[in-house]
Amino acid sequence: MTEFSQVFKVVYPDKNCINVDDFNAPNTKILVPCSFGSSSFTLLSIIIDHLKEQFQQHKKFAYSVEVLTVYYNNEQLKHFKKNISNVKKLYSLNHSDNKELKDNVQFKLLNMNEYFDDNSDIIIRLTDDYHDYICQNNSDHRTKDLSHFLASADFNGKNASSKEDFVNILKTIIIKRYYNKANANASTRFQCLLWGHSMTRLADQIISQIVKGRGSSIATEINGNLFPLRDVFLSEVDAYMITLVSLYNNKHFGNGDFIDIDDLCFGYKPKPVLINPTCINNNNEDDDDDDVNNENILKYTKEDNSKSGAVNTSFKTINQYAREYFDNIEDGYSNVISTVVRTALKLDTPSNNTVTDIKCTICQTPLYSDPTKWLHEITVNSPSPIATEEEKQLYDIWLSSQQKNNHFNTVSTNDAPGIDSRLCYGCIVTLNTLPHKEISWISESKNDTDILNEYILTDEEWEDDSE
Ligand SMILES: [Zn+2]
Repeated sequence: MTEFSQVFKVVYPDKNCINVDDFNAPNTKILVPCSFGSSSFTLLSIIIDHLKEQFQQHKKFAYSVEVLTVYYNNEQLKHFKKNISNVKKLYSLNHSDNKELKDNVQFKLLNMNEYFDDNSDIIIRLTDDYHDYICQNNSDHRTKDLSHFLASADFNGKNASSKEDFVNILKTIIIKRYYNKANANASTRFQCLLWGHSMTRLADQIISQIVKGRGSSIATEINGNLFPLRDVFLSEVDAYMITLVSLYNNKHFGNGDFIDIDDLCFGYKPKPVLINPTCINNNNEDDDDDDVNNENILKYTKEDNSKSGAVNTSFKTINQYAREYFDNIEDGYSNVISTVVRTALKLDTPSNNTVTDIKCTICQTPLYSDPTKWLHEITVNSPSPIATEEEKQLYDIWLSSQQKNNHFNTVSTNDAPGIDSRLCYGCIVTLNTLPHKEISWISESKNDTDILNEYILTDEEWEDDSE
C-alpha cells in the first residue's frame, strides 16, 4: 500500500525530487469501480472530498479519478444516470466554482453486453464425470448479451447462487479487462484500481469463496487488490451515507431540493443501525424544521426495519446467507468480522505446489491442483449394475422422466467434442448445478478497443438524455 500512497500526494518539484513525473504526472489517474452500493459510494465521496481539499490548499490535484459503473440493461442504465446526477448535485459539481473538480472526476458507464461477441462466443461444458471442455457456440442461439447468457444457462430459483456467482465473476473480469486494456497504453494508464468493499463486504466475500470451494483464490484476491475501506464496517459506511444525505437535505430543506437516498444507491438500501436521528439535525439553523426532518428520518428508519424482516428465504444465495450472518453479528460480535478479514490477509498462495500460470477459464483463479482428478478420486461415477427386472423397470421410468424434463443432456468424457478447458473446483461445482451443465462465456478474442471506443457513454453523452 505504501508505494500507492505517493499517488495521492501533491508533490512540488524540488532539488531532492528527481523523478516527480513518475508519480505526479498530469495524467496520473485512478480507477474506481462504483456499483452505487453504500461502500463504493462512500469511497467515491471520500475521494471527492479529498480532491476538493487538495484543490483548496494547493490549487492543483495530485490525481484524477475515473468512476466506472458496469450495467447490462436500460433500467440499470437509467438508474445509474440518476445516481451519477445526484452525486454531482450532492457535491455541486455542475456549479461554476467547481469546474476544475468536475473535470477531474469522470464518470463512465460501460455496457457489459458488449463483451459478448455473437461471432466468437464459447460454450464451457461439463461431462458426467467432471471433465470440462470448451467448444464453439455454433447454435442458432448465440449469446448476444447478458439476458441471452442468463436464459441459455437456464438459471432458476434453485440455482440462484450459481447465477449470482457467474454474474459477479463476469463483472469483475470486465472491470479488470478494462483496467488492463487502459494500462497497455501510456496515455490512458491508471496508477491504481481502488475497490470500495467495506470490511463486512470483504468478510462476506471470503466466507462465500470458501463455501463455494475457491478458498485458494482468497490470498491473491485480498492481498492483490486495494480496498481502502477494509477497516470500516458496513454499518459505519451506511451511517456515513445516511448522515451525508440528511445534512444535505436539511441544508436544502427550504428550496425543496431534496436528494432521495434511493436515487443515490443502487440495489441496496443503507441501514440506519448506528444513526441517532436527533444528532443529524445539529447543523440546521431553522428550529421550526427540526420536527419535520426528525420525522422524515424516523420514518425512514421505521420503513427500513420493517422491510428488513420481509426477506424471501426460499431462494437465498450463499452471498446472502453470508451477508445476513455478518449483519446479525455486526452489532454485538463485530470482532468476528475483523478476525475473518485479518486472517484472510495472512493467507498465502498454496505452497505445496509449483507456481502455475494456468488459470480457471471462468473465474481466472490460478489453478494449483487438478480438481477433476481429485473429484474422480473422491466420488463414485458409475452406477451399480442393474441386477433384477424390477430395477430395470425403475431405471427405465427414471430415464424417461429425465429425458422428458430435458435433464439428461450431458455427455461422457469420450464423446466430448471440444478442447479441454481448465476449471477450478468452485466453477466445476457451480456448473454442475445447472440443468444442462453448460454455460456460454465471453470470448477472450473480442477486441476490447472496439468496445471501449464505441460503447462507453461519456459524461456529455449521458447528460444529453438524462431527465
Ligand atoms: Zn473458477
